[in-house]
Amino acid sequence: MMLHRLSRSILFLLCIGMLSLTGCSKPVKEFHETVFTMGTLVEVTIVGEDEALTEQAYSAILDDFNYMHNTWHPWQRNALMRVNGLLKTGATFSIAPSIMPLIKQSQILSEQSQGLFNPAIGQLIKLWGFHQDNLEEIFGPPEDDEIKSLLKTLPKMNDIKFKNLSMFGTNEDLHLDFGGFAKGMAVDATIEHLKEFGIQNAIINAGGDLRAIGKHGERPWRIGIRDPRNEGVFASVEISGDESVFTSGDYERFFTSDGTRYHHIIDPRTGYPATQTRSVTIIHGEAATADAAATALFIAGPEQWHEIAQAMGIKYVMLIASNGDVHMNPAMAKRIEFTNKPSSIKLSQPL
Ligand code: ADP
Ligand code: MG
Repeated sequence: MMLHRLSRSILFLLCIGMLSLTGCSKPVKEFHETVFTMGTLVEVTIVGEDEALTEQAYSAILDDFNYMHNTWHPWQRNALMRVNGLLKTGATFSIAPSIMPLIKQSQILSEQSQGLFNPAIGQLIKLWGFHQDNLEEIFGPPEDDEIKSLLKTLPKMNDIKFKNLSMFGTNEDLHLDFGGFAKGMAVDATIEHLKEFGIQNAIINAGGDLRAIGKHGERPWRIGIRDPRNEGVFASVEISGDESVFTSGDYERFFTSDGTRYHHIIDPRTGYPATQTRSVTIIHGEAATADAAATALFIAGPEQWHEIAQAMGIKYVMLIASNGDVHMNPAMAKRIEFTNKPSSIKLSQPL
């Protein structure tokens, strides 16, 4: 399973690489490195900069990634594990500075998404088995009774309270899992760090989810969006300035049992994987918001995505429904270039 994920990621990164190369008219000085961190392949591209500065900046963001991987991993002995252990007890404890930005930002995004994006449901993720690297060890979905019993008092992000420099939890099932968010936070943090080095043109691409700044030579960056059902590129968009493109899909992590596919994006209302969507792509300034919104809108599905996108302040959405219909807002439709025009495109009201 891991290998399968890895090979798909590599293939897709190559596709994006090719797209960006076709986007330039004359050769530009280009730095490319790929590193496996935070459970995914991260490709860093920096263009048009002095070699020494580029190397220095790259090495600094490698340290950032290592730090974030070690502190934010949901099921390892680290700062997040300490917080998770204490939140369950209800005891008041000193704030963990390394985890605070994740908690504070995701509390706001969770609220805006009407709880569809909910990183407090780690227990439910664990019950499904999606906390493990190797999904081949999962033999089927959990018992319905167990899911229902967790749903009765399912934790919310606002079950975490703050008092001066302390914090405490008000739900004994609280378990933070930032699997749908940490990647976005890490991409934001490392792009900001590159900017501090004076770098103006770069992409940080974490397994197909990315933030791009500046341009690729004289042209905008061209970004490929993965086809949720076949290998290859479904569509592409041009990015210039500073924007993130994040996709959540049912093909990323899943297991199959009795012919049914169970994927890793769980609807907190039902306790089961969301059923109406194949993938959602968001374009937004910050990667963290784009990451949370992709997860939330995936769960919201074809009927509800527009409402949740408005509440989250998202301006560009493409949602591929489980029946293959492609839903977009008009502004997104203007930017998207399809590899093969889909048979059914549903344009929404403007966002
Ligand atoms: P990907 O990792 O494929 O980019 P997402 O960003 O949507 O996809 O993240 C999915 C991960 O988020 C899951 O593996 C799980 O750890 C976590 N997750 C699942 N359901 C939810 C949810 N409703 N709210 C927040 N996080 C979730
Ligand atoms: Mg996400």
